[in-house]
Amino acid sequence: MKQSELFAKTLKETPKDEKSINSQLLLRAGFIYKEMAGVFTYLPLGLKVLRKIENIIREEMSKISGQEILMTVFQPKNLWEETGRWAKEIGEVMYKCQEDKKEIGLGPTHEEMITDIARHYVKSYEDLPFFLYQIQTKFRKEPRARSGLLRGREFDMKDLYSFHSSEEDFKKYYQKAAQAYLKIFERCGLEAILTEASGAGFTKEYTHEFQVLAEGGEDTILYCLKGDFAQNKEIAKLKAGDKCPKCKNILKEGSSIEVGNIFPLGTKYSQAMGASFIDKDGKRKLIIMGCYGIGPSRTMGAIVEVRHDEKGIIWPREVSPFLVHLIQIENNKKVKKAAENLYQDLQRREIEVLYDDRDKTAGEKFADADLIGIPTRLVISERTLKQNCVEIKKRSEKKTKLVKLSYIRKNFVIS
Ligand code: ATP
Ligand code: MG
Repeated sequence: MKQSELFAKTLKETPKDEKSINSQLLLRAGFIYKEMAGVFTYLPLGLKVLRKIENIIREEMSKISGQEILMTVFQPKNLWEETGRWAKEIGEVMYKCQEDKKEIGLGPTHEEMITDIARHYVKSYEDLPFFLYQIQTKFRKEPRARSGLLRGREFDMKDLYSFHSSEEDFKKYYQKAAQAYLKIFERCGLEAILTEASGAGFTKEYTHEFQVLAEGGEDTILYCLKGDFAQNKEIAKLKAGDKCPKCKNILKEGSSIEVGNIFPLGTKYSQAMGASFIDKDGKRKLIIMGCYGIGPSRTMGAIVEVRHDEKGIIWPREVSPFLVHLIQIENNKKVKKAAENLYQDLQRREIEVLYDDRDKTAGEKFADADLIGIPTRLVISERTLKQNCVEIKKRSEKKTKLVKLSYIRKNFVIS
């Protein structure tokens, strides 16, 4: 796309009331617009990133047999009364409204709704297992919504729910889901650490969080550099400097961002709501459930928190709004023509390119490119054209290189 047509300009000033790195950079670079604390609009660049993260999740979900659905945001009070959560636990952070005499809540999570759907369709062991997920806006009264996309009051969540006839089957799937999560975060350019966390009233064992080490994180984890042990500080009995119980290395402590969370739900919801099936032996049994959440919007914020420098964002390839930022400088006829041709060629080859065709100085264009953070920058100028070349630079590196125009036009592979 041509940058002259792109909606939303970059801002020179850092927004005063936003302190977190992710919100400052995303606001300045024109990815998001702030409506109020913890409530953001995604502008064209921001929505591209969010959709790419969501699509990575979709691909990995379908590899573990996840089927996508879309549940409603409106949730009836009576479902939440069945589990006793209307006014406590997560129900405390639910936005509620009145319609005639009925009360409804705006979904902060969907265990009640999905269990209601499951009890409607499941009759026998032959109907199990199945795996349903959705990607949807969630609403929560978050009292400390001061970390940009990391803590929204209205935010994007992928929630997967699994339904099993045996504990054994559930455990196998739980492991598979954990591996899928690690893959998702790796593709998003994040090193997520699988971390033991509290049972949260579902299980006497642990639940598992996916934590990304970052200074701006609200959590603290204790972890081993070898990667075989990590616990949320909330439950840890050991401390930094102690030996790892698995490999005897020294444990470290660090702030982190929880980007995902998986829970063995056991029969908590199926019992409260009567979701059961007839097993092979003819006996009625409760469905065993698991739930698995990821915040795509929080993940987007986390990427910015860990991948930036003093000039701006450094997007990993798979989630970047564009793969190539093509810049023409000097703005004379010859340079313009060459840049235009290259732009067409790259588009023909289905390489996503943002073409800076604006009438601005080289300095301004480079500053914007660094702020926006597209992984590969190509520059065409009078000087490069003299040698029939384009200058290429990775956002993550300092060095520039001249490459033949003919090569870039035909065979160039974006790494
Ligand atoms: P936290 O402890 O950080 O509030 P949570 O335990 O309440 O998170 P879950 O209910 O497990 O989170 O939600 C699943 C995922 O949704 C989280 O791992 C996170 O990525 C995302 N998420 C949760 N709350 C928010 C929020 N307020 N803003 C953005 N993403 C969120
Ligand atoms: Mg929370």
